[in-house]
Amino acid sequence: MITCRRASRLISDAMDTHLDDVQSDALAQHLQICADCRNVARQWQMIRLGVREWRHGTVLLNQEVPPFPA
Ligand SMILES: [Zn+2]
Repeated sequence: MITCRRASRLISDAMDTHLDDVQSDALAQHLQICADCRNVARQWQMIRLGVREWRHGTVLLNQEVPPFPA
């Protein structure tokens, strides 16, 4: 399992470059279990969606995590 630091880096990288399958899977798995990093990912999405389509973010969106815990 990747660390939160690593996950944050991958989220950031996903904005500007294409994650490979290993990276994408690792990040998706981390987001399944880590609410903090889900927050980070969603904040990135909101920032980017306000500017332009979050091109590579669709990878994350298509592997959508469970509904945000209350
Ligand atoms: Zn995390």
